[in-house]
Amino acid sequence: MIISIDSNSGFCFGVTRAIQAAESELEKGSLYCLGDIVHNGQEVARLELKGLATIDYDDLRTLPAHSRVLLRAHGEPPSTYWIAKQRGIEIIDATCPVVKKLQDRIRACYESHRNDESVPPQIVIYGKPGHAEVIGLQGQTNNTAIVIESAEQLDRLDFSRPIYLFSQTTKSVEGFQELVEKISSLRHDVMSSCSFEYHDTICRSVANRVKELQAFARSNDLVIFVGGSKSSNAKVLYQHCLEANPNTLFVSSADELNNLTTKWSNSEAGLRIGICGATSTPLWLMEKVKEEIEKTQ
Ligand code: SF4
Repeated sequence: MIISIDSNSGFCFGVTRAIQAAESELEKGSLYCLGDIVHNGQEVARLELKGLATIDYDDLRTLPAHSRVLLRAHGEPPSTYWIAKQRGIEIIDATCPVVKKLQDRIRACYESHRNDESVPPQIVIYGKPGHAEVIGLQGQTNNTAIVIESAEQLDRLDFSRPIYLFSQTTKSVEGFQELVEKISSLRHDVMSSCSFEYHDTICRSVANRVKELQAFARSNDLVIFVGGSKSSNAKVLYQHCLEANPNTLFVSSADELNNLTTKWSNSEAGLRIGICGATSTPLWLMEKVKEEIEKTQ
C-alpha cells in the first residue's frame, strides 16, 4: 500500500492561532475555553489533558472573578464580553482576525442603517443558524440579522426593502453566488428601488480547499477522511471528497479503523490510500490514522 496524507488538510490559520494561544496561556495557569476550542473531540481531549477546561454560557455566568477565559477562533457576540466585564473575568481573545474583521463590517453596517425607519433595512447572513460564528455575527446587529442557510429560505426576506448580505466565513462560494442571483432576480420582480449590497466574506483558507481536496481524492484508490462528528466543515468537505472519489470513508478517530480493515487488507499490492481531513482536524490525528493503517499491512 502507498499511504499519503494530504498536505493541504488540517487546521486553518485561525484555529492554529487559537490553539497556540491556549497552549501558551496554559503555561501561565488555569484556563477555561468558552465552547469546544475546535470541533474535534480528539484535539479537545488532548488540550483538556493539559488543563484546558471547556465551559458553556451558564458556567461563564458563575465563574469567580479573575478567572481566565479563552474565546475561540469562531468569535463571540458583544454580550459575552459584557458578561465577562461584569464578573471581572479576564478574556483571552483568540477570535480569528478574519472573523473579527467580518464582525466589525457587520456592526458598521448595522450602526449606519439602524435608524433608517422609513424603509427598515435587512441585514442577512448566509450561514448555519446556531453555529458559533453566526451567533457572534448576529450579536453585532443586536440579534436583528436574518440567517439564511439556502436559497429555499429566501421567502423570509422582504424584497421591497434594502438588503445587506454577508456570509459566514465557511460557507460555499457557489451557494453565496446562487443567493446573490436569486435575490437580484426577486428584487427585479417587485421592481425594488432599494439598495442591495452583498459582501462575499467567505474565507479563502477554506473555500480553496475544495478543489485541492478533490484532486487529492481522485489521485487515490481509497480515501480516509478524518473529521470530528460535530464539525460542519468536516461534513461539507467529506461530501466533496465523496463526490470526487466514491471510495471515501469517514472516521473520527484511529479506533474506528478496526471495523474497516477489510477495505484494504484484501486488496492488490500498490493500493493508494489517501488520508485527509477538515480545517478542524489536527495533523497528529491524521498521522495516527496513517500509523494504524500501516500496522495492518
Ligand atoms: S476558516 Fe478562515 S475565518 Fe474561519 S477560523 Fe479559519 S482562517 Fe479564520
